[in-house]
Amino acid sequence: MTTPTRYQGLLNRYAERLPVTEGMQIISLNEGDTPLIQLQNIPGILKKNVDVFVKFEGLNPTGSFKDRGMTMAVTQAVHEGSQAIICASTGNTSASAAAYAARAQIKAFVLIPEGKIAMGKLAQAMMYGARIIQIQGNFDDGMRLVKEVAETAPVAIVNSINPYRLEGQKTAAFEIIDALGACPDYHCLPVGNAGNISAYWRGYKEYANSTETLAAVVDKTPVMCGYQAAGAAPFITGGPVDNPETVATAIRIGNPQSWEYAWQANRESGGWFDAFTDAEILETQKLLADQEGIFCEPASAVSVSGAMKDITSGKIPEGSLVVCTLTGNGLKDPDTAIAQCDVNPTAIPAQRQAVEQAILESL
Ligand SMILES: *Cc1c(COP(=O)(O)O)cnc(C)c1O
Repeated sequence: MTTPTRYQGLLNRYAERLPVTEGMQIISLNEGDTPLIQLQNIPGILKKNVDVFVKFEGLNPTGSFKDRGMTMAVTQAVHEGSQAIICASTGNTSASAAAYAARAQIKAFVLIPEGKIAMGKLAQAMMYGARIIQIQGNFDDGMRLVKEVAETAPVAIVNSINPYRLEGQKTAAFEIIDALGACPDYHCLPVGNAGNISAYWRGYKEYANSTETLAAVVDKTPVMCGYQAAGAAPFITGGPVDNPETVATAIRIGNPQSWEYAWQANRESGGWFDAFTDAEILETQKLLADQEGIFCEPASAVSVSGAMKDITSGKIPEGSLVVCTLTGNGLKDPDTAIAQCDVNPTAIPAQRQAVEQAILESL
């Protein structure tokens, strides 16, 4: 008999580094193990000699990195006997929570901001059978309500204030080192609630100088670069933002729950925060699709907006190894994608000559 090598998700792969205990029923959709893709054309556009890789988290089972935290959090919730989970969400957490709850055969309650959630994410929560509660408020209102309700209702919170979420999410840093056989010099991330940047920093610190890595032993950690949307940038303004607004709905958050952890990552790694306008974010989203064939969410693209700016200015020097996390899949938000594309809306006759003419015109 041969040893099975089929990939079975990140709790299985990194069990020794996670709070996975004997006899736990693992709730998994084989999340993780996402591709680390080297950008081939954008560095040339910048005329800079840098190695830039994107960790394409949009290829997780529900299309975002949220699945990493959710497999751990739902596994723990089921282990503790929970029959229901609850979260506030800008969309992706609700999609992920709904899927893992379906897998575990428990209930998921999701609080989402009315009218401010991308169509694909709403479709997912509906299909996976979540109990959807639309609130006339934003993510921050939803987060506050979830905390209040969970004090009395028999529901487990699976937002990133649940410590098991960050544990699961830190595995992305492990995968990057295992794939590169080295630690990046700079790691660029979008920052909303700030759980992900905190989780990556934890993962990198745990892997540094560890002899149990799957690949090389690395003796360093990267500089952590966090990027926000200009209309939802509490790490730039220095405090909570009351009415966060951005086309990048996944990071439309004014009061980040992992505020302290993120500042810690910033201080300890010698990193920085920066913010970009919606126009800049959408331009990068299009550039990634156009130039590299990678279609990510608007929120994800801000990590590359940041990397491009800092590589251009030399803040990230030539010769650096840079990794950007593309947090979610572009298919989540088709409306925003289509709205920014300039396609010819007029149809032509279904005739060979007309088609040939159309091709010649745009060659
Ligand atoms: C959740 C999410 C983010 C923000 O991550 P935080 O951990 O909240 O900072 C960014 N992009 C996408 C696509 C997300 O789903």
